[in-house]
Amino acid sequence: MPIYEFKCERCGVIIKKICSFSDPEPLCPCCGFQMRRCISSFSFKSSDIADREKRIFKLAQGYLKDGKIHDAHRFLKKASEYVKSENIKKAVDKLSSKLES
Ligand SMILES: [Zn+2]
Repeated sequence: MPIYEFKCERCGVIIKKICSFSDPEPLCPCCGFQMRRCISSFSFKSSDIADREKRIFKLAQGYLKDGKIHDAHRFLKKASEYVKSENIKKAVDKLSSKLES
């Protein structure tokens, strides 16, 4: 589950909490005021992508270890449609040029 930051709008305290998006926002531990989720959607997405990237590259490396370059290429190409990642795109390009040569 992702880590969210919550900020108290009354006293400015910021806490981090692992929870799902649908969980209710917590109350401030200092003053009891309703806290607001303040992590930006961008930073949430980028950590999410980094996590997916890691898993995708791990799978692709499994294919490459077995010498299945075509499978790795096809897999990464498919993955790049779901995960908008420069690193995956670069890996696809690298494998593409490897396959062409
Ligand atoms: Zn507070």
